[in-house]
Amino acid sequence: MKLVNKISDLKIIIKSNKSMGKTIGFVPTMGYLHEGHLSLARRSVQENDFTVMSIFVNPTQFGPNEDFERYPRDLERDLAMAESVGVDVVFAPSVEEMYPDGYKTYVNVEDITGVLCGRSRPGHFRGVTTVVNKLFNIVEPDKAYFGQKDAQQVVVVKKMVRDLNMNLEVVACPIVREPDGLAMSSRNTYLSSEERKAALILSKSLFEAEELIKQGERSGKKIAEYIEGRIKTEKLAEIDYVEVVSADSLEKLEELKGNVLIALVVKFGKTRLIDNVIVEV
Ligand code: AMP
Repeated sequence: MKLVNKISDLKIIIKSNKSMGKTIGFVPTMGYLHEGHLSLARRSVQENDFTVMSIFVNPTQFGPNEDFERYPRDLERDLAMAESVGVDVVFAPSVEEMYPDGYKTYVNVEDITGVLCGRSRPGHFRGVTTVVNKLFNIVEPDKAYFGQKDAQQVVVVKKMVRDLNMNLEVVACPIVREPDGLAMSSRNTYLSSEERKAALILSKSLFEAEELIKQGERSGKKIAEYIEGRIKTEKLAEIDYVEVVSADSLEKLEELKGNVLIALVVKFGKTRLIDNVIVEV
């Protein structure tokens, strides 16, 4: 496995692999890898001849009071984990390499970036679509792998790819959870042991809501209220949002039908945790 820091070096490697007719799979990450990231990498290795993983904590997707500076980083450990699942190249550019002095260009997907996480993190998705667009131009992947854990990100990136006629397929992969149900996240390392225990209420309440829908509940409002009630039983939990929306359009659903996304964000202290389930009605 190779570690590459420079865009120009990566472009040479990509060109050479493409000239040999190899297909390229791409897994964008911010590093501090866990099984969730590795599940995307394994799938890419399985489905493509050559896999690139990027590790880049992207400053443009963090707000001024968010955790860009303290976001966990451990490149040595990440490299060993990426190599163990068969990644061919890790691309880990510096901030200056991606955003040199005088950088001016941003990509913005409208409307669907103003709801859910877009409402509580203004500018976040503009940063995501900008960096993903840049990475797609650098890596030129045939397929790019994203986790369903960031459900809105999947919808937004797919929309960008379609609207801008990009030549790649976006593959969404299921959420990987800890044995007790907590969705894996690099941010879980911020949690104290008390917060870690309390955070179980997220997956628990989502699975319970899923069960209620399977038993026939069809009111989006009732489902959201049920989850809020359950989360409020944990005094360390502070709800940012609980929303029941269409998994395809992200529009709020009064009456549940089609692919239903139940998405939530809850804060424990300064740590913002995100989780969701998709239920087919
Ligand atoms: P991040 O490093 O948090 O930006 O995540 C990089 C990619 O890994 C994104 O596509 C995430 O959705 C995905 N990912 C993060 N956590 C998980 C998880 N627990 N299960 C599946 N995919 C995940």
